[in-house]
Amino acid sequence: MVIADLHLHTTASDGRLSPRALVQFVAQRGIQFAAVTDHDSTEGLAEAIEESLLFPGLTIIPGIELGTDIPGSEVHVLGYWINYDNPHFQTTLTHFRTGRKARAQQIIENLAGLGIQVEWSRVVELAKGGAIGRPHIAQVMVENGYISQLQDAFDLYLGRNGLAYSERAKLTPEEAIRMLIEVGGVPVLAHPLEGSDLSPLLPRLAKAGLMGIEVYYKNYTHQQIKALKEHASALGLIALGGTDYHAFGTPEEIEPGYSGPPMEEVNRLLSLRASPP
Ligand code: AMP
Ligand code: ZN
Ligand code: FE
Ligand code: FE
Repeated sequence: MVIADLHLHTTASDGRLSPRALVQFVAQRGIQFAAVTDHDSTEGLAEAIEESLLFPGLTIIPGIELGTDIPGSEVHVLGYWINYDNPHFQTTLTHFRTGRKARAQQIIENLAGLGIQVEWSRVVELAKGGAIGRPHIAQVMVENGYISQLQDAFDLYLGRNGLAYSERAKLTPEEAIRMLIEVGGVPVLAHPLEGSDLSPLLPRLAKAGLMGIEVYYKNYTHQQIKALKEHASALGLIALGGTDYHAFGTPEEIEPGYSGPPMEEVNRLLSLRASPP
């Protein structure tokens, strides 16, 4: 078991545990360093940090996950130690979440064209006021009996090449890195092995200010981890990671404690924590 998990979602986006419940869950599992990294939202951070005060052995690292676009693929950038009170930062996040709403409605329209009914009101209900994501739509598709499991929704309809996919306006990875640095954050490339091969992009992102890359991610194999570690080391990037836990409850989901970076890498991230002004 590992004691750090630096990629976790809550009801502030598409996770199913409230920030409070997530903190209790990771604390029970012996996690000592956890980063809450919701999609385009920091709304769960205050509650998570407050709850963590009940667990003196647990440090919550305030984080976020931003979706960005490159031609033909999607790139996710995590930010740690962000000064999330920054009003300009929050305004930008609000725009992103508004874009998510419009995009989800477009996906629902596309699904309707395919004879699949997904009620917008139910999507909103499931999102619990958090950033709306494709998993919320997928959940309604399961509830309505169109598919038996979440993954089928992505494979057939909601994935990048899915029949109902719709794009939303996104930043480039370089813009996301800049946005995170502006609020004192540590930008880290998420799940580098999903989607297209990102290795040609890495030197450019490192030059733009990228400081880390996920290496110890979810179900990456020893071989994948070894290759990524070498890549990280060659570029001077911190090798981080986590389970990307959403509490979907699917059989293949990896739970906190089963994947995450070793302490020597976590310490490199801890040392980058900006001292309070
Ligand atoms: P969104 O924020 O709408 O782009 O949705 C992103 C979330 O959808 C991710 O955090 C995953 O939980 C899930 N997801 C995205 N792509 C896939 C996929 N191909 N298979 C399963 N889940 C996916
Ligand atoms: Zn997600
Ligand atoms: Fe992601
Ligand atoms: Fe994630």
